[in-house]
Amino acid sequence: MKKVGVLSLQGDFAAHGAAVERAGGEPVFVRERDQFAEIDGLIIPGGESTTMLKLLRYEDLMEPLAEFGRRKPVFGTCAGAILMATHVSSPEQESLGLVDIAVERNAYGRQVDSRVTEIEPDPEFEKRTAPGKLEAVFIRAPIIRGIGKETRVLARYNGDPVLVEAGRHLVATFHPELTGDSRVHALFLEKL
Ligand code: GLN
Repeated sequence: MKKVGVLSLQGDFAAHGAAVERAGGEPVFVRERDQFAEIDGLIIPGGESTTMLKLLRYEDLMEPLAEFGRRKPVFGTCAGAILMATHVSSPEQESLGLVDIAVERNAYGRQVDSRVTEIEPDPEFEKRTAPGKLEAVFIRAPIIRGIGKETRVLARYNGDPVLVEAGRHLVATFHPELTGDSRVHALFLEKL
């Protein structure tokens, strides 16, 4: 069974652990650098990217995490997507630069910052998982404003990419771990 690390410094790592189990993987809650040696891939959960960054620096995990991402698949959701991006705005902040995307934080605004909506995934996503719409939970989500050439969009909402794949990595601005649909996690497991 594939061992899927879930970065567990802050945010909704427990929900990701359950989603990994539903998708047929074994979750490993990662808090220390030694644990990178025992996992096949890593999920960076949603939460607050600024807080997560502080904790990553405090625990000396920035370098091991970036190094892991140069070799193995990483899946970032929401705050995790922000940490994986090459460019972060609103405000600018440090990131791992694992996926060539530009993200704007909290981009849906304060009034309508959280919502649950159905989105139509790209046929490629359905082909590789199973057919059907995706329930997308957005919580103070970023918007992906720019994507690099090597980046494939697997789902959009209001025309903006919300699920993208770049080589071995996967990024979602919504929270697939909060619904019963485990197709996005299953897709990530396929990459390990
Ligand atoms: N607004 C958060 C941030 O900027 C992300 C929110 C989330 O992960 N649900 O880091």
